[in-house]
Amino acid sequence: MRALVKSRSEPGIWLVDDVPVPEVGVHDVLIRIRKSAICGTDVHIYNWDEWSQRTIPVPMVVGHEYFGVVEKVGAEVEAFSPGDRVSGEGHLTCGFCRNCRAGRRHLCRNAQGVGVNRPGSFADFLSIPAVNVYKIPDDIPDEVASIFDPYGNAVHTALSFDLVGEDVLVTGAGPIGVMAAAVCRHVGARQVVLTDVNDYRLKLGQSMGATRAVNVAKEDLRAVMSELGMKEGFDVGLEMSGNGRAFRQMLEVMNHGGKIAMLGIMPGQEAIDWSQVVFKGLFLKGIYGREMFETWYKMVAMLQGGLDLRPVITHRYPIAEFQKGFDVMRSGQSGKVVLDWAA
Ligand code: NAD
Ligand code: ZN
Repeated sequence: MRALVKSRSEPGIWLVDDVPVPEVGVHDVLIRIRKSAICGTDVHIYNWDEWSQRTIPVPMVVGHEYFGVVEKVGAEVEAFSPGDRVSGEGHLTCGFCRNCRAGRRHLCRNAQGVGVNRPGSFADFLSIPAVNVYKIPDDIPDEVASIFDPYGNAVHTALSFDLVGEDVLVTGAGPIGVMAAAVCRHVGARQVVLTDVNDYRLKLGQSMGATRAVNVAKEDLRAVMSELGMKEGFDVGLEMSGNGRAFRQMLEVMNHGGKIAMLGIMPGQEAIDWSQVVFKGLFLKGIYGREMFETWYKMVAMLQGGLDLRPVITHRYPIAEFQKGFDVMRSGQSGKVVLDWAA
């Protein structure tokens, strides 16, 4: 089969056309991939940064955002049949640790990542356990289903706290921040302020539902708050930049008793002013992946209830032109980039 492989310990990714089709165990489902989306993690792997060098086995097929159709199921699989339209949860959990057994699989201490710790979905075929496969309703377009993994990060983060009538600050207008802003509006937040230093992405976020997109390199966030009639500070913060400066700025503009959900991964050990957390009585919650599978149900339900994610997909290429996709992702001048295996 064809696959995008991290075949060498250096920057880049390579399209290889003779990768063996993965084996299908009795509890597994073989998925024929139709669309792949490029994640920020794939860009890290492409760039071969320090995290990737420590984490990614070489050679390995990478990628974990996809839509596909069931090709074949293992002997014990009853829930799926060939032809089903599917995507899948990229974290494989152990099933036996305390959290798994309590039904909190997103907190599994032994999770393995598709396209990170085991072969991924930038390929004609992916084999994963049936419990990780998620059926896509017919009214959800293929390419929207291909971004369910990052959309799920946005939904898990955004729905961590009550947003109805609240003022929300989203730091980082990457694809996930932009989708989170759209979710906040959809579920009834009052002000949804989105910050970044990248005008392309801020414009995208504004078009998808942020009440105000703020370039913090040029504009004063406090001035924006008073322009919006905000008196006390933000009730909820969604940290989606992975940038220490953004997080420190968030802490300063939170109201007392505010709640912060943190998805962004800050490099190294960023320092913060802890008195902001203590004296304001802030709540901080780390977010990893998606809740299995409560987040997935909410994702589908919100799309069926009118949430429109299509604008976040800004670039589409046939798989043969994957390099263009990685180039535009690396430039920062994009939302989600989707690669088509059939074209
Ligand atoms: P991204 O890198 O595309 O977006 C981050 C954005 O933050 C960029 O647009 C960048 O310009 C912006 N930014 C930089 N400095 C800023 C500042 N001072 N103020 C505001 N914004 C600033 O990332 P993404 O793919 O949208 O993902 C968002 C974050 O979530 C990343 O840190 C990613 O690593 C992380 N992530 C975490 C999980 C998880 O399970 N916890 C899953 C997926 C992604
Ligand atoms: Zn577990």
